Parts: sequence; structure tokens; C-alpha cells
Amino acid sequence: MEKQDIITFEKLREKVIEYIEDEKKIELISKAYLFAFEKHFGVKRLTGEDYIQHPLNVAIILTTINADAETICAALLHDVMEDCNTTEAEIKEKFDDEIASLVVGVTKINRLNFNLDSEASTANHRKIIVGLSQDVRVIIIKLADRLHNMRTLWIKSKEQQKETAKETLDILIPIAHRLGINQIKAELEDLSLRYSKPDVYFSIVENLNKTRKERDRIVEEMVRQVSKILSDHGIENKVKGRAKSIFGIYKKLDDGKKFKEIYDLMALRVFVDSESDCYQALGILHAKYKPVPKRFKDYVAMPKTNMYQSLHTTVFGLESNIFEIQIRTPEMDEIAEKGIASHWSYKEGGKGRLQTTMEQKLQFFRSIIELKDEETGDEEFVNSVKKDVFKDTIYVFTPKGDVVELPYGSTPIDFAYKVHSQVGDKMVSAIINDSIVTLDYKLQNQDIIKIKTNPNSSGPSREWIGIAKTTQAKNKIKSFFAKVDKERDFEKGEELIAKELRTHKIPNSEFFANENIEKILKHYKLTNVEELNIAVGSGRIPVSQVVKPEFDSETKEELILKKAQSGVGIKSVSKNDIIVRGMGDLKVNIASCCLPVLGDEIVGYITKGQGINIHRITCPNVKDLEERLIDVEWNKQDNQKYVSTLIVHASENHNLLLDIISKTSHFNISVKNFNEMAKKDDYVFEISVLVEDTSNLEKFMDSVNTIKNISRVERLMR
Ligand code: MN
Repeated sequence: MEKQDIITFEKLREKVIEYIEDEKKIELISKAYLFAFEKHFGVKRLTGEDYIQHPLNVAIILTTINADAETICAALLHDVMEDCNTTEAEIKEKFDDEIASLVVGVTKINRLNFNLDSEASTANHRKIIVGLSQDVRVIIIKLADRLHNMRTLWIKSKEQQKETAKETLDILIPIAHRLGINQIKAELEDLSLRYSKPDVYFSIVENLNKTRKERDRIVEEMVRQVSKILSDHGIENKVKGRAKSIFGIYKKLDDGKKFKEIYDLMALRVFVDSESDCYQALGILHAKYKPVPKRFKDYVAMPKTNMYQSLHTTVFGLESNIFEIQIRTPEMDEIAEKGIASHWSYKEGGKGRLQTTMEQKLQFFRSIIELKDEETGDEEFVNSVKKDVFKDTIYVFTPKGDVVELPYGSTPIDFAYKVHSQVGDKMVSAIINDSIVTLDYKLQNQDIIKIKTNPNSSGPSREWIGIAKTTQAKNKIKSFFAKVDKERDFEKGEELIAKELRTHKIPNSEFFANENIEKILKHYKLTNVEELNIAVGSGRIPVSQVVKPEFDSETKEELILKKAQSGVGIKSVSKNDIIVRGMGDLKVNIASCCLPVLGDEIVGYITKGQGINIHRITCPNVKDLEERLIDVEWNKQDNQKYVSTLIVHASENHNLLLDIISKTSHFNISVKNFNEMAKKDDYVFEISVLVEDTSNLEKFMDSVNTIKNISRVERLMR
């Protein structure tokens, strides 16, 4: 087992003052240290060290890429929220918004569930991490956090080692690569290989050790030669032998290269003062050492998308050994090692933020594109990433921590349908970060969403189509209604036709004879009997027109009206849940202005061509329309539920909807929809519920009335 040196704050301080001069910033960092020290006091890591060693090490790693003071503070504090019940507010108060938001960002990422049963692919995971980190410093802290955890991974079980190594390889290393932070990336790679393929790793280490002496001698000599040649040509230079990373060797082995080829391969890095010196040095070296064909790359003129710049060449060098040579300036080297993090040094007056410059955003964006580009080069994907990473996408969580990706502006309805159609269809309410919200609430990045469902829910509300943002949700709601409507219309149509045939004593065989049916279908431009049933059931085609086409000259409504007015020949016909005294083939609609439910005194209003509308007898809309009114009665049917809309007035809105919804369960009532309407000193909610009858509804209203802060509950009538 290995032990790492104990890090003290003094050690961190020494590193920090090498590049941060502002005394106030140093004080801030020591304050963060003391805060974290206190919070983690008495807690040990699995390795036996004090917990504070972990954040201290993460901070030290970040000093190697010259991270700014806020990032160092956030690194020291990065585990206090998750492990010590520290709140965001506390960090904001003790430090500032900037540091708090970095700590929150790291905490969120550390909470992500990247387990196997999660839907998203690894490429998606990278996108999610990137999308979640509005500030790139969050990712950089995460990378340093992982690096220290990997350095102490030996303490974990074999299984955990493999899992962490895989996640690091799949998700974090590609991000580190795209951000160009080679320093952290290279160590993560070696550590990942060590734990994911220990046999391979240790055999490479062993082979390297065996050949080290001879290689070191050759490299040293080559360094001297190259440096002298360049100096002789008047080029200031510094030449270094370069150790090849174990992971780099592994990759080459994996590509099918032979052991010997790789171990014999040596590497030099040449530093010169300027870009033009780079090209000059290259020319001089190519004149002296024969270049290997097709191995020259000019990343100076054409930097990689992660900003990397260097000239690369491979030559036959000393004693015919093959040397890889990189030629660059110290500035290019800084970028090669620190990538996006090298921009810390370009900040103006300590004010600029890494992420805020347009240049970095662009860089970041290009990195993400390249991430996938390598795999498919698919333009559509590139566009979708572009949209996703930038402002058009939010990432929200299920209560279990699974990530759901949605377009900006999505609502709980979109979330529910994204999770599952069944969840959407049976949804009654949504709870976000522990408080209930209206269904038109706009989801925010990182919201945790719990959808309450009720298996007895009769389905979504049509209004949801207008509220939902995603086409997916809209289509699912529409298809729910299309299906329900079609089924209902089909049955209704079938029933209406059968009834009409009986009324007119027309035998089925006569009506359904091919010749007759074909004539009807042709006339209405329908293709089959099923469509005919649906057309009749939905009221598009009056059943009388189908059964006895020559019969009608007046509309059905006018006929009923006549009969109703004359008071003769009236017979009761039951229409679904309402008995209409009159003829039986009319559409019956529940009026939306007063929404009568079973038990209400009701009256039918004979419309002009739209069937009969059923109103509550007290409804102001039918008050002076006696000549078109007709007696109707309820026809009690089991399991039938009615929509009723309640207006609730309250003096305060603390958990009110939650209280109301909790009442519904006592009365077998389900909430269909609700809206919060802005009023000055009065909170007004419009709640649509499904109820059995008036007594059911009244009991519920009484119960809602007992809730604290609710001043009045009334049924909608407009
Ligand atoms: Mn940590």
C-alpha cells in the first residue's frame, strides 16, 4: 500500500503565493481552509488520513494549473455541502455568490447517477456534465477532485476501482482532453489504466524499467546534439528528453504496434523563443536527421481545437534510433499543458472569468463538437449539441438522481411524458424541489422533479397541449385524446345507428347491405363502416341522414324544439348520463360555463345545430332563454365522473396546493388541472377536479374551506 505525504495548509499557501499576489485573496483562501477544516473535523478518509487532506490535495492540484483564488476556495469547500450538511446560503454568507455557485456546481455533478441502468450514453454523460457546468471552473475542480480520488483509489475494492477507472476513461478524460488540460489528463489516464488493466499496466512499467538505462543514455546524448546544432545556427533553445506516458504506450500497443517499436521510440521536446524559430529549428533538424515520411504535423499554423500548438516530426536520430520531436515556444507549452486553464493568466485585473470570454465559449463549444465529430462526423448531431450545450437545453433530475434532458421552457408535463407516457397520462400534480407547482411552471436547470400520479386519473387535460413545450408531449396528449375520442365516437355511432334502425323498423340486413352501405360511404366520402360509426358518433353526420337520408328537412334541434313547445309526443330517452326528454339522436354537451355535476339541478339548452347543452339551472347564461330550454334529468351511471372547476381564494400561498391536493385523496377526487391566478392581496387558484356528484363535491369543498389561510371556495360559473 502506498501513502501520500501529509499536506498542510502552509504547503498550499506556498504554492498559491507563487502566482497570486493579492493579500485579500490569500486571506479568503485561508478562511475557506479553516471553514472546511472545521466542517470535516474528526472525519477520516478510508485511507486513515483526516478528511481535510482530500480538499487540500484537490486545491494543490489546481495550483499546478494556476487556478484563481475563487477556484481554490471552492476546491477546499467542494465536499462540505454533500458530507457536512452545509447549505448554499451559509457559503454565500461566509464567502460570496461566485464561490457558492462553484461549490454547488461540483456538488451537483458529484450527485449525478451515472450507473448502468441510466438511459444516457457516455457521450451524453459528457454533454450533461458540460451542460451543467455553466462555469468551466466547475469541471476543472471536478477533474482535480477525481485525480486525487484516483491517487488514493488503492484503498477501494477491486470492483470500485474498475468502475471508477471506467467512468474516468469514458467521461472525464475526454472532457479533460477537449479542455486541453493535458497535465491532469495524462495522470488520470495512467491511473485509469493501472486500475482497469493492472496486468497490462505493470508489464509496461516493468519493460520500461528494464530498458531505462540504455534509453536514458541515448536520449541524453541526443539532447546535447540537438541543442548544440540549434545554438550553432543562432537559435536560443532548451531541449528536454520526454518521458512517454504509460497510457500512451498502451494505446500504441493496442493499435497493433510491436513492443520493440514502441520501447525504442524516444521523444524530445524543443523550446524556442518564437513561432518563426519553430520553423527554422525544424528545417535545421530535418537537414541533419532524416525525417520519417508522413510524420510531420504543423499544429502551429493550424492549432488543434483545444488550442494545442506545436510542430511534430519524427526523425532517424542518434545511432539510428527513431525520435519524436516536438518544437514549441514556452507559451505554446503552457497551453499544451493547461489548455483552457492557461487563460487564467490572461485575466484583466483579476476581474475576468474564465468562462465569460466569448473566445472561451467558442473554444468550449468546438471541443464538444469534436468530441462527437471523431465518432460520426454527423452534422445533425453537431447542430443538436450546439443547441443543447448552449442555452436551449436544461438538465433536470428525477428524485433518484437520473438526469433528464429537456428543451428550455419545458414544463412538468413535458418531464412527465419524457419519463413515460403512463406517467404523463396519470399525472395529477408536480412537486419541484419539495414544493408543489402549477403545471405550467417553467423548469429550471437542476430542478428535482417528482410527479404525483393517480391510477384513477381519467387522463390528461386538453389544455395541456397548449402548456407543453415539447412536440413529444403534445403528440402523446393528442394521441391520448384521439384514441379516447375515436373509441367513444365509434361506440356511440354504432349505438346510434342501431337505435335509429330500430326506431324506423329497418332491418339490419337491409341497411348493411353492400349496395346501401356503399352508397352512403360514397356520399360522405368515407372508406369503411368504422369511419361511418365514428362520423355519426362524433356528430359530424346526423344519424337520421344516414339511416333515412330522404327524411330530413328540418334540423333535429328544430324538431325537438317544436315537440318540446307543443308538449306532445315527448318520450324520455336516456343519453349516456343525461336523460333528454325529446328525441334521442342529439349530441348532449356539458356546458363549460357552469360545469354541472351529478346531483345539480340541470336544464337543457337547444342549440342551433350543436345538440343540447346541459347547464346548471342557476346558470346566468340560460336565464332568459326559456323558449329554447328543455327538461333534462340525470341518469345515474356507475363510475361516471364529472369535471368541476373550483375557485379558491386564500390570504397566503404557503404549501396551499399541497394541502388542497392532500384533501382530494379522502374524497376519491382527482385533480385534473390547476392554475394560479395573480391577484393583489388575494391568492386565487382555479382547480379542476373530477367528482362523482354534488354531495361528493360539497364535502370536498367544505374540507378545503377548513385549510388555514383559505378564505373562500366556490364553484366556477361564468
Ligand atoms: Mn471530493
